[in-house]
Amino acid sequence: MNQKDFINNYNFKFKKKFGQNFLLDDNVLNNIVNSANIDKKTLVIEIGCGAGALTRKILEHTDMVVGYEIDETLTPILSTIEKAKILFKDFLKANVKEDINEYNYDKLYVVANLPYYITTPIINKIITDNLEVDKIVVMVQKEVGDRFLAKPNTKEYNSLSIFINYYYDVKKMFLVSKNVFMPKPNVDSIVISLSKKDKKINILDENLFFKLIKDSFVQKRKTLKNNLKNYNFDLINQVLKEHNYSDDVRAEALPIEIFAEISNKLSQNT
Ligand code: SAM
Repeated sequence: MNQKDFINNYNFKFKKKFGQNFLLDDNVLNNIVNSANIDKKTLVIEIGCGAGALTRKILEHTDMVVGYEIDETLTPILSTIEKAKILFKDFLKANVKEDINEYNYDKLYVVANLPYYITTPIINKIITDNLEVDKIVVMVQKEVGDRFLAKPNTKEYNSLSIFINYYYDVKKMFLVSKNVFMPKPNVDSIVISLSKKDKKINILDENLFFKLIKDSFVQKRKTLKNNLKNYNFDLINQVLKEHNYSDDVRAEALPIEIFAEISNKLSQNT
């Protein structure tokens, strides 16, 4: 039976508020899982199991799958999956460390077709919960994927691009057409892969670094100087000058290495 008939059999009512656009295409599902390179010793966290199409594919590669699904009306459908540990809870409120602590794994991956309305909070949680996730292979809205991939001096480049690039090497895998979902979404999708960096850039004070990045982009059209009125701009300017940037530069022109240098200079002088 195909995925569409399978879902229709259960009389399931799709809920827009949960970002429910289920994947129907077997090739796309296989491509997502193959992009992740899962083996028997990998524990996979799936966020938003839906009707379990991706969950089943992941289970072809490992027995260790912990899935999260907020919508309990999916219980009859998801209870047909035996091997995975499916938890009916809001991923954003979950104690993930506790949920996965019974497993003995070599690598921890997140593989998911994300609910798009909470993409950024999900990525933030994965990072700030210190889960030590080795790889994240996720389908996201194309515009959001573009921000993850963005380079300086492009309109997509912002604080999120830098935050993500601090932890992960980001790679575009493939685009996905609207037509392979039920119901069909209004936006295009992209699958991206985030691999944990072997060596992170050296930051002396991460809290300061993250605050600096956030503040630098508060108003994207403004200069760095204008956005950073509460900072010691003389120190910042020293770094800018060393790298031949003028003092009216905008944050969008600066790569992560410059923010790192500025942050380290500020933290050494406070
Ligand atoms: N994995 C399925 C697929 O590919 O067909 C479904 C993907 S659908 C885009 C996103 C799923 O995330 C939905 O089933 C939705 O109910 C679930 N979801 C939404 N918010 C959630 C949350 N906060 N925690 C866990 N699951 C959530």
